[in-house]
Amino acid sequence: MGRLPTFAQIEIMYARVVLKTGKDGPIRRFHPWIFSGAVAGVSSPLTEGDTVECFAHNGQYLGTGHWADGSLCLKIFSFERAEIDADFWHRKVRRVIEQRMQIGLPKPGITNAFRLIHHEADGFPGLTVDVYDRLAVVQAHTQGMYLARTHIARALIEASGGMLQHVYDKSAAGMEKMGFTGRTDGLLAGSEHSAIILENGHRFAVDASTGQKTGFFLDQRDNRQLLSRYAEGRKVLNMFGYTGGFSVYAAKAGATTSLTVDSSGRAIALAEENLRLNELDPLQHQCIVADARPFLEKNLPGDFDLVILDPPAFAKNVHSKQQALKGYRSLNRLALAGMKAGTMLFTFSCSQAVDRSAFNSVLAAAAIDAGRKVKILHQLAQAADHPVNPFQPESEYLKGLVLWVE
Ligand code: SAH
Repeated sequence: MGRLPTFAQIEIMYARVVLKTGKDGPIRRFHPWIFSGAVAGVSSPLTEGDTVECFAHNGQYLGTGHWADGSLCLKIFSFERAEIDADFWHRKVRRVIEQRMQIGLPKPGITNAFRLIHHEADGFPGLTVDVYDRLAVVQAHTQGMYLARTHIARALIEASGGMLQHVYDKSAAGMEKMGFTGRTDGLLAGSEHSAIILENGHRFAVDASTGQKTGFFLDQRDNRQLLSRYAEGRKVLNMFGYTGGFSVYAAKAGATTSLTVDSSGRAIALAEENLRLNELDPLQHQCIVADARPFLEKNLPGDFDLVILDPPAFAKNVHSKQQALKGYRSLNRLALAGMKAGTMLFTFSCSQAVDRSAFNSVLAAAAIDAGRKVKILHQLAQAADHPVNPFQPESEYLKGLVLWVE
């Protein structure tokens, strides 16, 4: 990287990153990512996680962000110049709490679990925060946000006006995948890492320390609610059911029976607990530990008339996209082939690398493979507390279809 121009008029608060001429267009349009090819130089040697200020070649301030080694070297979390201290995080967390309140989250007595911070789309690149009643679960996906997490935890408690009392850090596994070893999960504030939450009036037990991701899949909230509209009198098969989210909604809405299938014994134990919490009859609403494909091969879903397929992400990145498409195609073919006419299928992909049109095409192909005529009743997405960043089309990660099988 070359020599830096000097800007006598600028008070230096942090290390500076200066962009090449003509490379400042995206950041001026509030795109939060800077790639190393756009960088003309840096004012001092940087280490991963450093807070830096980014300037145009003409010396104009553009944004403040966290530095990372590698090609995506800077993620901007502020487009206004400020000291990045406890007050800064407090103001930023307060703004996002207010935005969620504007869209009805939480809703007292109905829903008290929601995603409060959804990384880039909420102006916090590399950070996820989920709220479970009085507990916030924090996941840092960058070293910068990891280092800021104690400030952020304090801001969550102080800016929430009593709503939040406990903060649990669940970053270790994700950070380890990025090469930051030796980290442990744990409480950053308060004393609890579990909660009984309310979602659209249904009760769920969530334990951040043992659950997958932050403990519960909040992104399906609206889709579970939609399922309630169709569940009455139906026999429901909930494949990849995790802790029984869809099953509880179906059962409460009057499904005749439900069967929750997941390969994780721990998830199934929690699904059973959640059905009990909602006072549902365990004989009518059963759960089993099983691998999805052999289960579908042996137990043709013909016994059911509402089927949910919500597998984990088959494509972890763009390189595995083709393999993932094959996976979705064969899984859906298997399910569709065994269904009786008049069955509804709620089918999902949460792979970022598989976009909506690819998913729709895969479902069409699966229906052809299975020799079934289908029509699309609904096209589904993640709930509004998982907003999409318009600069990152792949941040619309959850795609779903409700099919009517003829
Ligand atoms: N529908 C759920 C979330 C599903 S997450 C909800 O609304 O909460 C995906 C789930 O698939 C996980 O619980 C995981 O344990 C399960 N899973 C992963 N591989 C599986 C397989 N081969 N067979 C069955 N379940 C599997």
